[in-house]
Parts: sequence; structure tokens; C-alpha cells
Amino acid sequence: MSTNQPSEATLVLDAKATLGEGAIWHPEEKKLYWVDIEGKALHIFDPATNQDKQFPTSARIGTVVPVAGGCALVALQNGIHKMDTETGELTFITNPLQEPDIRFNDGKCDPAGRFWVGTIALDAREGAAVLYRMRRDQSMQQMLDGVTNSNGICWSLDAKTMYYIDTPTLAVDAFDFDNISGKLSNRRTIIHIPKGEGQPDGMTIDAEGKLWVALHGGGAVTRWDPETGKLLQKVTVPAPNTTSCAFGGENLEVLYITTAREGLNEQELNQYPQSGGLFAVKPGVQGIPADFFIEKGLAVV
Ligand code: CA
Repeated sequence: MSTNQPSEATLVLDAKATLGEGAIWHPEEKKLYWVDIEGKALHIFDPATNQDKQFPTSARIGTVVPVAGGCALVALQNGIHKMDTETGELTFITNPLQEPDIRFNDGKCDPAGRFWVGTIALDAREGAAVLYRMRRDQSMQQMLDGVTNSNGICWSLDAKTMYYIDTPTLAVDAFDFDNISGKLSNRRTIIHIPKGEGQPDGMTIDAEGKLWVALHGGGAVTRWDPETGKLLQKVTVPAPNTTSCAFGGENLEVLYITTAREGLNEQELNQYPQSGGLFAVKPGVQGIPADFFIEKGLAVV
């Protein structure tokens, strides 16, 4: 289905998160992982039982990705850690962050199992952020600098293109991507978000290769054609600060959407009391399974 007729997402979990973010579906566990950055917790939501398990992280948590074979990587303000998602136990891996007012933000794994994660300054000052890549051997490389608010990131179905959002640019950029080496080249802007529609935040890709972008301040997630730059579909959300989205469900037919209470005044919170909740919609297209972090030594299958 491709239509410009907006549909509306409905609340599935009244989480009241301060800054819900980082949605990613675990296709083996059939659960939605997400984070509350300012609430400092990893959340694991099980739609079969409607239970939402919380794992406090004590430091701000920018994002989460599953690790192949079990556990998850969490990007905390005090470093990348591996978390045992049964016990919540954290194991420190590495911390490239040099300044106390820089935290990790959105991040995902590429199709070869590397972990890409960006940053943001706490005051969101221009150009202070970067994008890192963590290889399977746990070494980290800085891949982009001069970023302001490193956000949505995903890869094309053929793994030849990386899509990337630095929020204040109001754009989605594309890079040529070498899945063997993990190198980027040929940066160009492919989608412009019209002013007044909100700012591009989290992003995911569907099985038809189209991009889904959460519009922070726009109360919507939107589907875009990366070839033409055209808007294809809009799903409205009764929470203005829509932050991230991920396909989940038995057949990856459900689009889950995180939202935030942060940034809304009292009047807006009264008008949109479900803000901070987790929402879902069946938009008529399926997603693809998320890529996991693949540790060195584990065979790539
Ligand atoms: Ca974000």
C-alpha cells in the first residue's frame, strides 16, 4: 500500500518515557527493545504479554542493539557496554567519549555486524557531535565529524548505501557503503524534510527499500522514496515528539514508534497525555529483520 492518506498509530504501552528512543525488534525473542535516554533505562516490551521489562543503566543510554547469540550492546554516557538481558548485568567494552557533556545518541548495526553509533552534546551545540563505528573486534573508529545531532541510520537492502540523519539539517543523506571494509564515500542529500513538518529523528527501512522517518515535533512517522526523495505515506501519532520507529511483530508487519515527553510544556502534555508512550500501526508494508552486532570469532551466517 502506498497512499498519502494519513493513518493514525495507537498506543500500545503508556510508558510515560521522558525520552523514548532507539526502537529495535528482536526477531528471535519477538520483543521490542527500546530506551529511555533521560530515564536511563533499557526497556524490553513483549507484545504477547504487554509486559515491559526495565533495566536501569545509571548513565544516559543512547541506543541498544542485540548481539548475535544473546545479550545486547548499550551505548551509555560512560561507555559502550554489553548487557545481559536476563539479569541486567553490564560489562564495559570501550569509551571513546572525551568530554563530560557529550553523550551517545542513535545507533544501529550494519549488514556485516558492525555497530554504528553517533553522539550529541547535552546543549546540542552545532558541530560538536560525531559518528563512530565499532568493529567486530570492539575497536572504535570515528567516521564522521562536525555533526550536531547524530540520529537515524540504516542500510539499503543491497547493503551498498548507508542512509543517515543529522537532525538539524532537516535532511536524509546517503553514502556509498562498502560492506566488506565498512567505508563511506560520496555523501549526498536525498530527502529534504519540509519546514514545519518536524525534525527528522529515528529511521528504518522496509522490505520495499523505502525509508521510514520519525518527525520530532511533527507527531508523525513518514515514508519516503530514497530514489526520488518523495513523500509516500504519513502515519500520525498523538504525541508530537515522535522519536524512532522499527518494524516488529510476527511478520514484521507492525511499525512500533517511540515518543518523548521531554520538550513539551504542561499545556502540550495535557493535550497529548500519551506522550512518552509506545505506539504501533500496521502501515501495509513489512520491515526487514534488524542486523545484530556480530562478535569477532562468531561465524557470519
Ligand atoms: Ca533520536
